[in-house]
Amino acid sequence: MDGEPCRVCGGDGRIGNALGGSSATCPGCHGTGRRAEAAPTFHDVTKTKPSHHRPAVPISTGPKGPTTSEGRQLALEVSACAVLAEDAKTRLLTEILNHESTHGRCTRTFIKKIRKQTRLG
Ligand SMILES: [Zn+2]
Repeated sequence: MDGEPCRVCGGDGRIGNALGGSSATCPGCHGTGRRAEAAPTFHDVTKTKPSHHRPAVPISTGPKGPTTSEGRQLALEVSACAVLAEDAKTRLLTEILNHESTHGRCTRTFIKKIRKQTRLG
């Protein structure tokens, strides 16, 4: 099996150009004159089969926070407030978010109203 001459060029590694008489490197053996090993049919077709189906997990962004700087500041004040109960804070934070979504920002009156509640007690 080894040393079998190239079928294209017959073993001399070159093929003659019928028109010009010059020779070119044999495309079959790339000039070695030896028959190239059978084309790489030995492709290792390792099947990359997923071991288990993974359902697409939606990215949880968590609770949406205020988008405006005033809203964020207000939310911070509410969260840091010592006189408000947790449920009251949650309610105020929701109020801030709602206000932002309807007004696009926090109005002065709204900020005042919220701040007033953080200062109760
Ligand atoms: Zn050849």
